[in-house]
Amino acid sequence: MIIIIKDKATDKQVNELMSWLQSFSVKTNLVTGVHSRIIGLIGDTTSIDVDAVNARDIVETVKRVQEPYKNANRRFHPDDTVIEVRGRKIGGGGLSVIAGPCSVETEEQLMATAIAVKEAGADFLRGGAFKPRTSPYAFQGLGKEGIDLLIQARRETGLPIVTEIMDLSDIDLFADVDIVQVGARNMQNFTLLKALGRSDKPVLLKRGLSATLQELLMSAEYIMSEGNSNVILCERGIRTYEPETRNTLDLSAVPLLRQKTHLPIVIDPSHATGINSLVEPMSLAAVTAGADALEIEVHIDPKNAWSDGAQSLTPEQFKASMRKIRALEKFVDSELK
Ligand code: PEP
Ligand code: MN
Repeated sequence: MIIIIKDKATDKQVNELMSWLQSFSVKTNLVTGVHSRIIGLIGDTTSIDVDAVNARDIVETVKRVQEPYKNANRRFHPDDTVIEVRGRKIGGGGLSVIAGPCSVETEEQLMATAIAVKEAGADFLRGGAFKPRTSPYAFQGLGKEGIDLLIQARRETGLPIVTEIMDLSDIDLFADVDIVQVGARNMQNFTLLKALGRSDKPVLLKRGLSATLQELLMSAEYIMSEGNSNVILCERGIRTYEPETRNTLDLSAVPLLRQKTHLPIVIDPSHATGINSLVEPMSLAAVTAGADALEIEVHIDPKNAWSDGAQSLTPEQFKASMRKIRALEKFVDSELK
């Protein structure tokens, strides 16, 4: 962090500011030039609030030169994090595919979808039991019954399960869930993030609708700062002025996050586009960009799905897309890595 001091500041005020900064266990280095004085901070500045420094009257400007996140930062953890669940991995090379319905609806719907995605080569089963819907009158999910059905589907297929938590009060229901998803709308529910940080459960953290990548990383930091380093980041489209797609897929997030963090990166082409025919091309683009995993919605009967039918693939479409995804994965692995 670099702090530029106002000309009018007295030496006493500068010394006071430096002692305050030193109380955060950083070293201060005062550089006195012809026209201005600058304090350089050396050490871990993550606990220093830039706004609090800026609020001091003798401070002209403050600039962070290091990111405000430490646990998620590749600088302090150069090796890729690999999340391993029931023998399946996300991160560290290779491509994992998480597939399944938007919502768990019925036993028949979930079991048929789970078997179909398994046969097509998916690695994980997804399905929402608690659904964050824009309308309070829309289907809200089966709740506990939905989680029980996912556990049953795991028993039948062997696929580890991924499902979303919306409220901290439901946390005990997730004890037997393999990966807990935090949805876009909850990305900055810091109480929920901290509580998940106190477990060792893998967390799939989705980017908020209008969150920056730094905000996504700071949310990951909330989980990690409590001790849980099993965090997976998910880009699922951000809100822009373009109404043709549900969201706009920010694919540059993959290589950019790769530079900034060691955490695995998932692309969700279903919520990113909202359109069935765009899911395959965006999945292939995500594989090329280097994503560690894809999260894809699949439904046995999209036209009659209780949520997100328009973006859900049929099992046949998913199978055909998986053939291309796996072929491209091999090519990327052998030729582009
Ligand atoms: C979901 O994956 O079911 C979901 C609701 O996604 P998002 O939080 O990205 O909208
Ligand atoms: Mn959905």
